[in-house]
Amino acid sequence: MAESATKILLTEQVIRDKVKELAATIAGEYNGKNPVVVGILKGACIFLSDLIREMQIPCTVDFVRIASYGAKKETSGNITITKDLETPVKGRDVLVVEDIVDTGLTLSYFVEVIKQRQPATLRVCVLLDKPKRRIVPFSADYVGFSIEDEFVVGYGLDYNEKYRYLRDIRIVGSTD
Ligand code: 5GP
Repeated sequence: MAESATKILLTEQVIRDKVKELAATIAGEYNGKNPVVVGILKGACIFLSDLIREMQIPCTVDFVRIASYGAKKETSGNITITKDLETPVKGRDVLVVEDIVDTGLTLSYFVEVIKQRQPATLRVCVLLDKPKRRIVPFSADYVGFSIEDEFVVGYGLDYNEKYRYLRDIRIVGSTD
């Protein structure tokens, strides 16, 4: 089935304004704390890059890669870490940054993994939230946009590795 991404959901400007707003809130709460900002690869890379530059506070940046095997457009229950953090987080203030929370499976799994490493504090920031799709309960501490149940791409989010480079966020539709 062919697909296209022509319908813009969030423009570059709208995203930029929201990232600034989130960054100001986070910077206020983490001022003087030097948090470990953990990005979940690959989707969060652009959001995290913009967010920390807007936050303008000292922080350590690290990344994890989490794989979930299953259907292409959704997370299965089989979740594993394929690239772990290089930074010890025990006693640190950890801020997990993710592109989107959908079923909640990925973040609820990852939050438990980090909790076992005994951080001082642990919070989660997501750019996008699809609350209607939850399979397990999960609430992020910072949410950019709550969106409907539609598959979106751009600003780091992909569809089969396509569209990550887009400056805006678009809805993927079928052309068939
Ligand atoms: P969850 O485990 O909450 O179901 O989903 C988390 C992951 O599923 C996200 O990090 C992302 O990789 C993928 N995902 C969920 N919804 C979307 C979407 O609308 N667009 C894209 N590109 N990925 C999504």
